[in-house]
Amino acid sequence: MDNFTYEYYETIFKEALAHEYQIITLKEFFLDEYDKDKKVLVNRIDVDFKIARLRRFYQIFKKLGIRASIYVRLHAPDYNLLAIGNIKIMQDLISIGCEVALHTELEDVEHYCQLEKQNLLKREIAFFETIFETKLYGTASHGDMTPNNNLDFWKTNKASDFGLLYEAYDDKLWKNCRYVSDSEWTRWKAYENGELLKDDRRTPIGHMQEGCRVLHTLTHPESWYDGYIYE
Ligand SMILES: [Zn+2]
Repeated sequence: MDNFTYEYYETIFKEALAHEYQIITLKEFFLDEYDKDKKVLVNRIDVDFKIARLRRFYQIFKKLGIRASIYVRLHAPDYNLLAIGNIKIMQDLISIGCEVALHTELEDVEHYCQLEKQNLLKREIAFFETIFETKLYGTASHGDMTPNNNLDFWKTNKASDFGLLYEAYDDKLWKNCRYVSDSEWTRWKAYENGELLKDDRRTPIGHMQEGCRVLHTLTHPESWYDGYIYE
């Protein structure tokens, strides 16, 4: 049975360490700041909902001495990134070496609110860097049940034009990894170098056991809990 408890979440990363994976951020991946002769796990987290659950991820990462790239929304309907408690969560994550960055919704906000998206992104980056006192290296596009695909922004824009190193779906990573995601909430899905692995519902540990060299995990706090998803 699929297991989305915090206990199992910790087990995934313990197993990665036991299988001698380097656990790195996307920034480190795009800067080639890791040993390419060893296996690597690129650890991405998108915070769509339930930002408070990041506290549990923080405790696990601190205990294991590992880090992640964490993408947060400025336009989330159910959390306020600027709530003082949430700023502290982000500071705690930064303090253990996590990369924090923007989970962007540029197409959605332009289509619905008619805001000019290039200018908006520039201002969002400056704002984010001010609040969190950290440089922003990249963004990850948020996918939602809207008619727009937020990734479309990057068809006509370059990360470097915004002082960024990467967009999380850039080919350098997306076309060169095994991507394993919990984005269907109750089951895993996987892509190999950008192609869907049909009906592959293995957990990240299953992919580690196969000896996958570049494992890219995407997890969401809202998918994980102690005993019940809406606890
Ligand atoms: Zn998202």
